[in-house]
Amino acid sequence: MKKDMRYFDLLQACTEPGCPVCRLSLKATRRYMDNLMYEHVNDPGVRKNLREARGFCNEHAWWLSEDYIDALGIAIIHQDIIGNVLKIINAPLPGRKANQKAQNLLERLHPSIECPACTFHHTMEDIVIHTLLEYISDKEMSKALSNSAGLCLPHFSRALELVQENNTLKRLVNLERSILSKLHNELGEFIRKNDYRFIDESLGKESDSWLRAPGIVSGERRIK
Ligand SMILES: [Zn+2]
Ligand SMILES: [Zn+2]
Repeated sequence: MKKDMRYFDLLQACTEPGCPVCRLSLKATRRYMDNLMYEHVNDPGVRKNLREARGFCNEHAWWLSEDYIDALGIAIIHQDIIGNVLKIINAPLPGRKANQKAQNLLERLHPSIECPACTFHHTMEDIVIHTLLEYISDKEMSKALSNSAGLCLPHFSRALELVQENNTLKRLVNLERSILSKLHNELGEFIRKNDYRFIDESLGKESDSWLRAPGIVSGERRIK
């Protein structure tokens, strides 16, 4: 089987902290946002999507102001979104009762599409998971995955939705079982050593297990 860039990217992500699917999909979404802010602020299609989505979701909106210094780009796209919302709010409200009128406005304000960065992110997550499933039997990949932080539960669940072959499913579940068991034991050891009777024992690999566990249970966040 010819190995492509995605294979090598995944192999590399396995050597870094956190769920490799989170890492690669977050990294790609970051590039998408960079590209959008630096080159596509004035693209009519991008602006239309952002108007229809009523802007980015909470998570991605805050990526903008925390990580970008492009104040002008942020101002331009948001003036456009707010101008569009004002048009909707300024239109006369049909109906007689307050709740009918409010409902009508609510419906017209409702985004007709998802946050564009979320859509991109979901596509990338699926691409990485497909790569993982495709190469899970590859010797090098299987070794890298066993030594990785493992899939977070949201990505393990998504992989279960996408898996097609019995052998692949078996490998996927075995991988997750061994990774979760290891983390479970490390957390147990961390908890044990926090007991005053064992407080003098020095901490080993389990010392940062409490920091790694939320990412594996709930998905990583903003890996740089
Ligand atoms: Zn993940
Ligand atoms: Zn989003």
